Amino acid sequence: MQVSVDRDRCCSSGMCVSNAPAVFDQDDRDSLVMLRQTVLLPEQFADVRLAAELCPGRAITVTGDGPARTGA
Ligand code: SF4
Repeated sequence: MQVSVDRDRCCSSGMCVSNAPAVFDQDDRDSLVMLRQTVLLPEQFADVRLAAELCPGRAITVTGDGPARTGA
């Protein structure tokens, strides 16, 4: 499974970092989301899917290894 983010949709809430801190980070300059990794380990799937579902900006998309889900 892979994850991508759309920084243009990010509203800097930080919820993704709370749900999956190994995968998501926030830019020190503007607090917009940054990815620490794009290819996920199986044990990260659930947390990243939850992060996508809860993202208020609908900025996170996960694909591959099962049904694709997007926050959009
Ligand atoms: S949860 Fe969504 S809106 Fe909030 S920082 Fe992460 S990507 Fe941005």
